[in-house]
Amino acid sequence: MILAKIEEGTVIDHIPPQEGFKLIPLLKLDQLAGVVTLGMNLSSGKLGEKDMIKVEERFFTPEELNQIALFAPEATISIIKQGKVKEKFKVTLPERIEGILLCKNTNCVTQTERVRGRFTIQKGSNNLFINCDFCGSLCRL
Ligand SMILES: [Zn+2]
Repeated sequence: MILAKIEEGTVIDHIPPQEGFKLIPLLKLDQLAGVVTLGMNLSSGKLGEKDMIKVEERFFTPEELNQIALFAPEATISIIKQGKVKEKFKVTLPERIEGILLCKNTNCVTQTERVRGRFTIQKGSNNLFINCDFCGSLCRL
């Protein structure tokens, strides 16, 4: 299966299979008026299978794009302008994230007072951990 080419917009490729849908709330794609295409379990030589997202008429900030690395550390971003790839790069894992995740500790102020979550990202050998700024909880992502 090949997703239709886009003229203007952003292509997020090499997302691990089944992780693509997690990027929809992360990038607030469900709030966009333009066309968004999510391809799941597409065949890919490199990963076996992959997900891919094409977002028409929308470009993202580096901060927004780097959040993708939380779920898709190998993701590749292509910026498409006038039907051509203008820029292609990999996402970089951010050191900190704010406002996109909630602490899992039910006694944490982010849960009880509806404060925006703020975390430092820590890399384990196989997993990522988020360290809550408020209560210090360390949770596996
Ligand atoms: Zn917390």
